[in-house]
Amino acid sequence: MLLSELNTNEFGIISKVKGSGAFRRRITEMGFVKGKKVIVVKNAPLKDPIQYNILGYEISLRRNEAALIEVVSKHDELPKLNGFTGTITEEHLRTSATEKGKEINVVFVGNPNAGKTSLFNFASNSKEHVGNYTGVTVSSKTATIKHNGYTFNITDLPGTYSLSVYSPEELFVRDFIIDEIPDIVVNVVDTSNLERNLYLTTQLIDMDIKVVVALNMFDEFQKKGDTFDYISLGKMLGIPFVPTVGSKGRGINELLDKIISIYDDKEPYQRHVSINYGDDVEKSIQKIRTEIKENNKITYKLSSRFLALKLLEKDHHIKDKLLNLPNYKVIREDSKKEIEKLENVFQEDSETIITDAKYGFIAGALKETYKEGTITKRKTTEILDTFLTHKLFGFPVFFFLLWLMFQSTFTLGSYPMDWIDNGVLLLGSYISKIMPDGSLKDLIVDGVIGGVGGVIVFLPNILILFFFISLMEDTGYMARAAFIMDKIMHKIGLHGKSFIPLIMGFGCNVPAIMATRTIEDKNNRILTILINPFMSCSARLPVYILLIGAFFPKHKGSVLFLIYAIGILFAVIVALIFKKFIFTKDEQPFVMELPPYRLPSFRTTTKHMWSKASQYLRKMGGVILVASVIIWALENYPKNINYSKDYDSQIAMLEESIKTLPEGEKVEVTNKINVLKFDKSNESQSNSYLARIGKTIEPALTPLGFDWRMGVSLLSGIAAKEIVISTLGVIFQVGEDEPGSIEPLADRLRHATYTSGNKQGEKLFTPLAAFSYIMFILIYFPCVAVIAAIKKETDTWKWALFTIFYTTGLAWLISFVVYQTGSLFL
Ligand code: GDP
Ligand code: MG
Repeated sequence: MLLSELNTNEFGIISKVKGSGAFRRRITEMGFVKGKKVIVVKNAPLKDPIQYNILGYEISLRRNEAALIEVVSKHDELPKLNGFTGTITEEHLRTSATEKGKEINVVFVGNPNAGKTSLFNFASNSKEHVGNYTGVTVSSKTATIKHNGYTFNITDLPGTYSLSVYSPEELFVRDFIIDEIPDIVVNVVDTSNLERNLYLTTQLIDMDIKVVVALNMFDEFQKKGDTFDYISLGKMLGIPFVPTVGSKGRGINELLDKIISIYDDKEPYQRHVSINYGDDVEKSIQKIRTEIKENNKITYKLSSRFLALKLLEKDHHIKDKLLNLPNYKVIREDSKKEIEKLENVFQEDSETIITDAKYGFIAGALKETYKEGTITKRKTTEILDTFLTHKLFGFPVFFFLLWLMFQSTFTLGSYPMDWIDNGVLLLGSYISKIMPDGSLKDLIVDGVIGGVGGVIVFLPNILILFFFISLMEDTGYMARAAFIMDKIMHKIGLHGKSFIPLIMGFGCNVPAIMATRTIEDKNNRILTILINPFMSCSARLPVYILLIGAFFPKHKGSVLFLIYAIGILFAVIVALIFKKFIFTKDEQPFVMELPPYRLPSFRTTTKHMWSKASQYLRKMGGVILVASVIIWALENYPKNINYSKDYDSQIAMLEESIKTLPEGEKVEVTNKINVLKFDKSNESQSNSYLARIGKTIEPALTPLGFDWRMGVSLLSGIAAKEIVISTLGVIFQVGEDEPGSIEPLADRLRHATYTSGNKQGEKLFTPLAAFSYIMFILIYFPCVAVIAAIKKETDTWKWALFTIFYTTGLAWLISFVVYQTGSLFL
């Protein structure tokens, strides 16, 4: 009987748990497993939920959830026990539950002519009509057999190519699986026609049910002489694959054995994998799924992910299952919106988008496990793939594209960058001319324009970088890059799938860290997250561009490439170390989707680029603006400083005297005035709050070749890396004497000198110090947004804090080594 039918104070022994995979996993964690005793604490008729006691814990279940758990209780008619006359004890129930638990309901599904009926006949010894044409099996047939002490109720269903309900057969099969909730679905596939047959498998995977694949027609496949590593494929899909020959009955015992071990949860690699449908579709799925899950009225029986997908595929039949949900209207409206959104982005029917993704999943899975062209569809894709994912040619192409990306970022970006730079300078001097002197003018010119303006000039570079990344994603090339990197990634204990988040990290670490969701293995995922900050994000790029332009003008592109390469090198080394000492567990294999190549439309790519860039602009208006103003204020206050000399009256005196001097002597006095002004602002700056903070940390930074001003800029970079620039912009105002002739920041940095200490007057940024500084910026504290993302994605502060400390510690160490060894030689 069902658990929900037990009355208060009665108990039952669990014999079977049905329902969707997610439900079963949740319920199993609570202790609802075969053979366990459940006591009903309170079951008021018509009342939901019901209270149970299992393993000493009180747990409440909804009535319809409890209806998915089968139990044996005193109400059940027990099988006749030898000479039994007395009362029924718990022991008897337990024995009976074990017996009942050994009854497995199995259905055979598969494409027409895959050999379901042949297998069914051999398994059941019955003689159903077996024919070599489509549509022979019109309704279902069930047979009961015994094997290894288990009872199998096997049902043979009509053949279907998919579960998308185009035909009555498809609807019949799908509803049978949903309504009858078989314990195991045996997916019979034609091994010599895998790509098409596995399509149905991907739909079964989406349904999150227990599946065993019978690789039928294995004899035909063997004749072809292809090689197929079906064990690896099974591990990737979390589904066991058993070779069979339906016409001769070969492999049937192995198939039945596998069914038993899956049923008893004894199969080591049985697990639920999610097919990754790509960012846009996944976002839509997530949205609808959350709504479906909201009232928990259906997900115990049907996977919410499956339902969301079906809605996105415009499956009209699925709404019957959802009609009763209180928020059905919202779900319907939102699905409509999401479909529109997707079709707008892809310029394609939503069904096609999902079908393509499924074939991409299959192609990726087969590419790794099947040798010899099963992939006959999509010719262009095949031809391009032979070249782009080639063992040897793949790499040079890939590195060339990466190099091209960085080179273009620089060269193409430099023109609009100059325009914006000039615009910012013009705006600054224009405003300083029209505004009266005072704090407000300083705030606007130095704080706002100097700070935000210093950062906005890098927008073109960032747009170009994002354009390239979007282009690689949209064409499908990124997936290939992941594919060819797979072997290499394995060498550092990662998977090819980690590669895309890492490349995305060049854009921004935050979405990159979110993109690690496609990595199913937890350790692998955390490791990918931890090394992601070494992928220099686009916020670090402006800092590099500024410093490289100022100090390594002859080799700009190469130095930039070198910095990124060093970042990657650190990622590799750190990954190796972490893998060795922290994440020692072996990973689970999974499929890398190979979506078909698409000619990206300019619209789609710019749209993707823009959605990334707009985040950047928002950051500019928000955190960067605020931080610039704060830094400016810290630098300009306190105002009432006890100067070592009375600068103002001395300057005033000289300015007075200059009027009466002959032309020839004016220059000398003007110089004197400038020196006084320079000294004054130096003195004011080194008394500022900013300087006080900077000087506190200065001792720790001197060995790295940094002074307090550089230290302060690093501190400000904790909020966001661009702020390093705005801070430098605000701090290195010194030297601007003639209004209207502000030097570019790069020149100001080049001319900056130590203002105190034993190096006073020496150049602050030697190329070595600049490089050491770049190294520090490359490695240290990512930024608050990244730390927040790590916390969110790993669900614990542990990894977020760990990232803060290990990156900053490593940054210090590396800069120390660079600067100290460099100082020995230079
Ligand atoms: P169904 O439509 O999936 O039920 O497929 P059937 O069981 O009716 O089989 C279709 C045809 O394939 C029949 O002619 C079978 O004899 C043949 N067949 C089934 N299994 C195998 C197999 O493993 N190898 C070979 N060579 N033929 C098979
Ligand atoms: Mg048949």
